[in-house]
Amino acid sequence: MRSVDVVIVGAGPAGIGMAMALQQVHGLECEVLERGQLGESFRLWPTQTRFITPSFYSNPFGLADLNAVDPISSPALSAGTEHLSGLQYADYLKSVVETAQLSVSCDCEVHEVASTADHRFRLTTEQGDYDTKFLIWACGEYQFPDLKPFPGAQWCMHYASVADWRDMESGHFTVIGGYESGVDAAFNLLQHNHGVRLLVRRKTWDLPDVDDPSQVLSPYSRERLRVMEDAGALEVVYGVDVVEVSCDNQGGVRVHAGDGRYWDSQTPPILGTGFVKGGGARQIAEHWSWDEAGHIRLSENDESLRTPGLFLVGPQVRHDAMIYCFIYKFRQRFDGIAREIARRLELDCTAQILTSGTWGPFGNPECCEGCAC
Ligand SMILES: Cc1cc2nc3c(=O)[nH]c(=O)nc-3n(C[C@H](O)[C@H](O)[C@H](O)COP(=O)(O)OP(=O)(O)OC[C@H]3O[C@@H](n4cnc5c(N)ncnc54)[C@H](O)[C@@H]3O)c2cc1C
Repeated sequence: MRSVDVVIVGAGPAGIGMAMALQQVHGLECEVLERGQLGESFRLWPTQTRFITPSFYSNPFGLADLNAVDPISSPALSAGTEHLSGLQYADYLKSVVETAQLSVSCDCEVHEVASTADHRFRLTTEQGDYDTKFLIWACGEYQFPDLKPFPGAQWCMHYASVADWRDMESGHFTVIGGYESGVDAAFNLLQHNHGVRLLVRRKTWDLPDVDDPSQVLSPYSRERLRVMEDAGALEVVYGVDVVEVSCDNQGGVRVHAGDGRYWDSQTPPILGTGFVKGGGARQIAEHWSWDEAGHIRLSENDESLRTPGLFLVGPQVRHDAMIYCFIYKFRQRFDGIAREIARRLELDCTAQILTSGTWGPFGNPECCEGCAC
């Protein structure tokens, strides 16, 4: 059995960014375990999907790239583009890992987590057992789509199961969901000459009272929506609360709304309806405390309220009204966890990298003073 101070499960931006922050804790041993390859979720994105948050190499002027996982690297610089594809972002993560020489074990799924009597964790993995003092869960959401948002959803195809929009059989599609993945699905289907009807509950692109940029449609997707509307190519139906999808046994499906309206389709409706609440953290559901809405309750340092020593990083982290669902948001939490672990292990950490100002209004103030960018 291998024994380390910290195990991080998941090598997406949350896991890799957290490992980078922990590298600033002197003398700490950390291992990242990943069931697929580095950036596996991004490798699974549909080929045509692009980042909605733009990347820009602003580091030399102290403003970190919006999609970077540490204060000095830049996906814009490594990919040479503003809206990266999933593969480009996975390659960026790989370059961060290689440059920093992080210890990551790929093809190493964690099957079971047990807390031991001496307040440690024992992990059963595809590559043997691990023993660790601290466990950081970074399993994301993408690989945990909600496949049952309503009865009959088995007749639909979830956005996360599309590898390439070019592979879709020709026809007219019904897309359910008016947020990022629904609009992206509609855009890509139209690009490949399919007809599209988009069923939405509300206009997520017109919510004047909402401040959180992750609750309104991003400017990138709004622009695409405008292109589709201007071309008169897209049918959008508003106020639709889908309650069921039925199948007529001849390959046809009917999408039913709560108000009695329905739409027939010869192709499987596309679900842009989201992911399981709690995402990959559901794998170890018994180690978390859950609220009535299905979110995880955390300490101010993002530690489980049920299992001391277990931390959560990534898009499921929430504190009151703050939802840390994008990279530029959840990376702000790495610092607090690294400091807390350093404190408990009585180790020093490099304050200038880990200061909370690092991701503040002016990014990394130390950039280009002996840094590696
Ligand atoms: C279509 C789409 C577009 C998006 N666009 C943006 C954007 O523009 N900007 C932005 O900031 N965010 C965007 N997001 C959200 C962003 O992708 C996620 O917030 C981000 O991927 C979360 O990172 P993560 O590291 O927590 O999860 P992931 O990237 O999913 O990484 C989790 C890792 O854990 C691994 N894993 C899971 N279970 C286990 C296990 N038991 N053992 C070992 N390994 C395991 C998985 O293989 C995976 O590699 C988008 C999401 C989608 C779906």
